[in-house]
Amino acid sequence: MKGMQKTKKTDVIVLGVGGMGSSACYHLAKKGLNVLGLEQFSIPHDKGSSHGETRMIRKAYFEHPNYVPLLRRAYQLWDELEEETGQKLFNRCGMILYADESSEVYKGTLRSSEEHQLPLEKMSAAEAMKKWPAYKPFEHHSVLFEPAAGFLYSEKIISAYVSLARENGAVIRENQEVVDFFPAGEGVAVQTKAEIFYADKLVITAGAWTISVLKELNIPFQLLRKNLSWHTAGKEHSAENGTPAAFFDLGENMFYMFPSVNVKGVKIGKHSGGEPINRPEEKQIKTPDRSFLQPIESFIDTHLPHASKKYNDFVSCIYTNTPDQNFLIDRHPKHTHIVFASGFSGHGFKFASVIGEILADLTTEEESELLTDFLRLRRFNG
Ligand SMILES: Cc1cc2nc3c(=O)[nH]c(=O)nc-3n(C[C@H](O)[C@H](O)[C@H](O)COP(=O)(O)OP(=O)(O)OC[C@H]3O[C@@H](n4cnc5c(N)ncnc54)[C@H](O)[C@@H]3O)c2cc1C
Repeated sequence: MKGMQKTKKTDVIVLGVGGMGSSACYHLAKKGLNVLGLEQFSIPHDKGSSHGETRMIRKAYFEHPNYVPLLRRAYQLWDELEEETGQKLFNRCGMILYADESSEVYKGTLRSSEEHQLPLEKMSAAEAMKKWPAYKPFEHHSVLFEPAAGFLYSEKIISAYVSLARENGAVIRENQEVVDFFPAGEGVAVQTKAEIFYADKLVITAGAWTISVLKELNIPFQLLRKNLSWHTAGKEHSAENGTPAAFFDLGENMFYMFPSVNVKGVKIGKHSGGEPINRPEEKQIKTPDRSFLQPIESFIDTHLPHASKKYNDFVSCIYTNTPDQNFLIDRHPKHTHIVFASGFSGHGFKFASVIGEILADLTTEEESELLTDFLRLRRFNG
């Protein structure tokens, strides 16, 4: 530790200020704690999992009905965030699911809707095409429309949370890579390349970097490189005209797309598949290869008659998958004053508002009533 600058102890350090960390900083600062957020890059940035402008949000959750109570709280908190900032951060355009009735996505969506009385509109492929000509399903597709769904402006949200956290007294430092942390007395010491910081509590929200930051937990996270591309599209795709987001379950492949919010056009991603990578740094690719473009082009050819196959923007991004693709949120098994949240498995952003609240509760209380066993560490190690 020779030559290291020591700083005054704070109540809580948040390691990683992306989607989840920015929300945690906000909720902790709002509770009146002295918060220090440490982010290795600028805020927001395009090297992790929260960039690319937008993220989908829906409540009739095909992944598992257990997520619905969390989503109800997430929705309340998104409304509050919009009210507090005066910014439009959530476009409530709805989402259309096109799938066969035998698909797990279709059945799971109906199951969540029935268990939690969530409104869904069922219609035929022909009816849906008449209503939303941007999307051309197969004739045999069944269609579910969820009016409460839509999309969030993810990067604007991170900036909004950071601004509000700062207004509530948080200190958030960019370009500060944490290289180590260790117990120190009753609290924790957190080391960057140049400084060492002390706090009573530590919240780890390191996204894909959790694989190294919390190596000792031995969670077999799988990192997947995922790509997003934007394509020029007609007015049929315009968010301004109220076009909903869409998800196509085509069996082997699943695609999702967002209505156009700017000149870049419709944003398309492939939920299935992805390239395994060992470290987050491997995700940086600036131009897509044919193995990504070919399925997107063929999808557009068949299902998006008003969009161009030629892409005009592209980003790559990371899914941090757990073995069961459910999130991982808990207290550190050896150090109870450290809590963490990771493993969002490609579907976490819509929950960022409530995850920040859960992490703040775990920091200040024994428990969070919103955190149930299916998201905790013990499911992996008994
Ligand atoms: C292509 C794509 C599409 C997606 N679509 C959706 C969707 O439609 N809906 C949805 O709900 N979810 C979606 N997701 C998932 C969602 O975006 C992620 O689950 C969520 O953004 C993860 O947030 P995070 O805070 O865990 O990670 P990040 O936002 O990546 O934040 C982690 C932060 O920790 C920082 N950090 C790490 N290590 C250190 C260190 N040592 N020192 C300092 N800082 C550090 C990183 O720099 C980073 O800023 C998608 C993901 C991708 C990749």
